[in-house]
Amino acid sequence: MLNLIIFGPPGAGKGTQSEKLISKYGLVHISTGDLLRAERNAGTELGNQANDFISRGELVPDAVVIGMVRNYMISKEGANGFIFDGFPRTIPQAEALDRMLEEFNTGISVVLGLEVEEDELVKRLMLRGQTSGRVDDQDESTIRNRFQEYLNKTLPLQGFYTAQGKYQGVMGMGEIDTIFSQLCAKIDSAQAS
Ligand code: AMP
Repeated sequence: MLNLIIFGPPGAGKGTQSEKLISKYGLVHISTGDLLRAERNAGTELGNQANDFISRGELVPDAVVIGMVRNYMISKEGANGFIFDGFPRTIPQAEALDRMLEEFNTGISVVLGLEVEEDELVKRLMLRGQTSGRVDDQDESTIRNRFQEYLNKTLPLQGFYTAQGKYQGVMGMGEIDTIFSQLCAKIDSAQAS
């Protein structure tokens, strides 16, 4: 199996690059943001639990997210591989993911980090907010809150995966196709090794 994590701050381009990687490598997409929004729109208990956290720009509690990912992975048994987008976002989530993949007799192949400066990210998210309809893309203070969560809780994962020899960073600014080619080169060399 080829299991990728696409890693980076909000607005780094994880969704855009995921779509391209999915069609090239035939992977199943697991975007916890998309799954949580679908739960919220369907009015499920999980969606209602998550809603307040999302609209404040805070992370949803680990147990909620981990359970949701686990159920989704089980429902996709037989997949060629997964691309995790927006997950894991904390060290406990990363540890839980390692355990879940072990149950499938597999593991993370490579963690692709999209590296973009904060001011550029705020600009991109404000722009996206004009068309995405996402409550958490609308005002600058919610967006800055999401960055704060990223810096405090998610960025430590870079060290976690570097220690496992799995983190590969790519500059996430510039042409989408150039960034995509760089990501593919990282995947191909991880598969070859
Ligand atoms: P995203 O679409 O990935 O930007 O996620 C939107 C929001 O959903 C985040 O700001 C969090 O409130 C919540 N969320 C998404 N993924 C996670 C996760 N792995 N852990 C905790 N909260 C999450």
